[in-house]
Amino acid sequence: MPILVMKFGGTSVATLDRIRRAAKRVGREVANGYDVIVIVSAMSGETNKLVGYVEETSHLYDAREYDAVVSSGENVTAGLMALTLQEMDVPARSWQGWQVPLVTTSAHASARIEEIPTTNINAKFGEGMKVAVVAGFQGISPEGRITTLGRGGSDTTAVAFAAAFGAERCDIYTDVDGVYTTDPRICDKARKLDRIAFEEMLELASLGAKVLQTRSVELAMKYKVRLRVLSSFEEQTDEAGTLVCDEEDVMEANAVAGVAYSKDEAKVTLVSVADRPGVSAAIFGPLAEAGVNVDMIVQNISEEGRTDMTFSCPTNQVARAAQAMNDAKDRGEINFHDLISDTNVAKVSIVGIGMRSHAGVAARMFQALRDENINIKVITTSEIKVSVLIDRKYMELAVQALHDAFELDKAG
Ligand code: ASP
Ligand code: MG
Repeated sequence: MPILVMKFGGTSVATLDRIRRAAKRVGREVANGYDVIVIVSAMSGETNKLVGYVEETSHLYDAREYDAVVSSGENVTAGLMALTLQEMDVPARSWQGWQVPLVTTSAHASARIEEIPTTNINAKFGEGMKVAVVAGFQGISPEGRITTLGRGGSDTTAVAFAAAFGAERCDIYTDVDGVYTTDPRICDKARKLDRIAFEEMLELASLGAKVLQTRSVELAMKYKVRLRVLSSFEEQTDEAGTLVCDEEDVMEANAVAGVAYSKDEAKVTLVSVADRPGVSAAIFGPLAEAGVNVDMIVQNISEEGRTDMTFSCPTNQVARAAQAMNDAKDRGEINFHDLISDTNVAKVSIVGIGMRSHAGVAARMFQALRDENINIKVITTSEIKVSVLIDRKYMELAVQALHDAFELDKAG
């Protein structure tokens, strides 16, 4: 039997009624001739509640017990989904991560999947079970402790199962009907994409589009899993949702596929550092050691042997970055006159594999921002992305202007 993986996010299993609705979809795929692996999230809000319990109980909590607690939301939905399917006369049973066993690293709260043996589940399929309902987000460490894969991790569970079982497709049911050219909440011209390339999705996911966990897209790209994002609230046709697939299968010809934004970005400038070999290493080494995720970097032109160094990092890491820089200064490793941080910034990015073959994409972006009188503070580019840091108050305007400038409301 061909295998299909269907993943239901928290909103799709938020009530017993919704679980029933999801189960009906699963039943339809069984009727279509598939053996189905269903991956479930916890009911929406449940994981947040469990995280809250842990934090209230223990300030510097033991991550192993955190995982024991927060993984439990998925156990509930897995059992309920299996029961619901049984009520519909579909042979189904639930599996917790350790029963598969889905083996992960020991990095509690952000574990990585190491292995998914297929024998146990396949043996049950062989005995006539039609649906394996697996609790997402969780696994077991080599030490035999329960682990979790990081927030949003059931997407990754789903893709990993699809890869391990050679599933025909991995359908991710969520509360939006696909991947959009930008966030429809801030741009009413946002358009649903029929297809998007893995690499574009990877950039969009890591730039803050929260449809899929970034790691799940990485895995799908590596193992060439056909990934579909669909709404569990709409009737489905074959063309529904967004297919995340290989570049060759994307037919759109737009240079830019989407516009992403992130408010969680701050700009830090070291004023007047010496401009000589080794200075960048002396700055970014200690930042890395302090666990600061530096994103964009600009070094200004130097005057009389000194220059300004600007970088961006998540807003909640500014204090840590400043501490690391002041410590390095005290140790005499670097020298700067002042450290200025600006947390009223946002990052806006355009993403598209078409950039590789279209010239002038960045220029068009800068022109569109200029037309709105938006000042650019920092720029970074990659092969398929251009990001700018701007004042946060212009973020929505910038997203809308870029969406218009690249005519993303029209299919390419
Ligand atoms: N329930 C977990 C979370 O809220 C995992 C998931 O739903 O993907 O992060
Ligand atoms: Mg999710």
